[in-house]
Amino acid sequence: MTFYFTLNTGSSSVKFALYKAMEEPELFISGCIERLGPSARLKMQAPDGDIQQELGQVDHASAVVTIFAKVEPYLKGRSVVGIGHRIVHGGNAFYKPTELTTNVVEELEQLVPLAPLHQPYSLSTIRAAKQVFPGVLQIGCFDTAFHAGHTFSNDAFAIPRRFYEEGVRRYGFHGLSFDYISSEMRREYPHVADGRLVIAHLGNGASMCAVENGRSVNASTSFSAVDGLPMGTRCGRLDPGVMLYLMQEKKLPADEIEAIIYRQSGLLGLSEESSDMRVLEQSDALFAKQAINYYCYQIRREVGAMAASLKGIDALVFSAGIGENSAHVRAKVCEPLEFLGISIDPEKNKANAPEIGTGPVPVFIIPTNEEQVIARAVAQACTKARQC
Ligand code: AMP
Repeated sequence: MTFYFTLNTGSSSVKFALYKAMEEPELFISGCIERLGPSARLKMQAPDGDIQQELGQVDHASAVVTIFAKVEPYLKGRSVVGIGHRIVHGGNAFYKPTELTTNVVEELEQLVPLAPLHQPYSLSTIRAAKQVFPGVLQIGCFDTAFHAGHTFSNDAFAIPRRFYEEGVRRYGFHGLSFDYISSEMRREYPHVADGRLVIAHLGNGASMCAVENGRSVNASTSFSAVDGLPMGTRCGRLDPGVMLYLMQEKKLPADEIEAIIYRQSGLLGLSEESSDMRVLEQSDALFAKQAINYYCYQIRREVGAMAASLKGIDALVFSAGIGENSAHVRAKVCEPLEFLGISIDPEKNKANAPEIGTGPVPVFIIPTNEEQVIARAVAQACTKARQC
């Protein structure tokens, strides 16, 4: 028995998973180091039970060393033969899983200006993993890749053409999640999987994707993962005039504007209470209710936009923390969508049942699993490497 490792690097956490190496990789251990910095914490689901441990100082680079130290006893001398990394940005060059050779890592460094808040963290994890696992095949899986192939109308902004040429494009994100959900649709609901799907990934980050024949046609995130839907702390779609106002009238520097649109907006900014949907749903405060109403309205609006880009809709799918668990949000999104053929059964909705629709357009709840997509990519790359 050998293993694959997956590493999913965020701005303040590194999620990891160890899979038994097989054609469809089987999860063995999963976990996360969160709150990276002086008071990092490990959470791990191991074969002998759940582990939680305060770690003290851990940064992105040392996280990989710490993770391997925690996981190694369970390997019992068996080896890790492939490592998969979630990488936020693949630019125009990387639209499928790619071996992270020295040249490829250098090319990914060139993309830092396109994703300055995320790409540097992924790169530091990759470098650390190359040191901890020398000679082991390392594969990059890109959040933008699933959206490659959008038409020009869904790929460009209407600003002078030279910016498009230098890479200012609507890339789209959360691709690994949409990829997984599309593959689950094919497995569980093959009668609709090739149709026109609108998928809502509603977690702390939130975005929607229009999928036809298993391919992304449109995404609500664009140049950055701040566009589109409002999120836990990100603002979503924003008139560029607001940015000019903040710069020119309020004289705010770029880092303050960045903090506002990434960390102080969305559900948190509107409610002035929390970015956590569970807290807002329990709250009696007017601002909390307005935040939820705004959130659901924007999702509904985006369902309409996605359906228009697909020229119809054959299924609606909810996923991620809020999409999988909040009956309240799903009901508020779906109730006014009857004109599209969408309606839901209140009991099935409350029970988070896999299929909750009652109208002509089925409505599904599919738990997402980005790690499984990465592990599958590693399995394929390892098989290919053995054949070469
Ligand atoms: P994720 O980023 O996918 O882990 O999703 C995190 C979001 O899911 C947070 O806003 C949580 O409040 C929300 N969430 C998780 N469980 C529930 C639940 N039972 N009801 C409502 N929201 C939930």
